[in-house]
Amino acid sequence: MTDWTAGEPQVCFDECRSCARRWPLPRAACPHCGTPDPQRRGAAGTGTVAALTVVHRAPEGAPHPPTPFALVLVDLDEGVRVMGRAAGVSAVGERVAVGFPDGVPSFAPAR
Ligand SMILES: [Zn+2]
Repeated sequence: MTDWTAGEPQVCFDECRSCARRWPLPRAACPHCGTPDPQRRGAAGTGTVAALTVVHRAPEGAPHPPTPFALVLVDLDEGVRVMGRAAGVSAVGERVAVGFPDGVPSFAPAR
């Protein structure tokens, strides 16, 4: 299973050691130039909401909070787009910060 937190209470991303491009999920090589062994880095956890939706019917068997719950796509300040749960987020363009209330990344309005 792919874990974009790398087991830490932190959102992580990969960065190519050759072309410096970044992407959210771990890969063995850069998807842009093919250089192997990218560097796993930690994000500050702040960014801007790119999309927001509310899930009313979640897949059976998958771990999730009680429905309805919000999901967001966030453009992290490091230039990587990630998906996470959300609480109290109301609009695209809103500044958010990640927290780990249940050990799972969840975005809330930045203070
Ligand atoms: Zn590269």
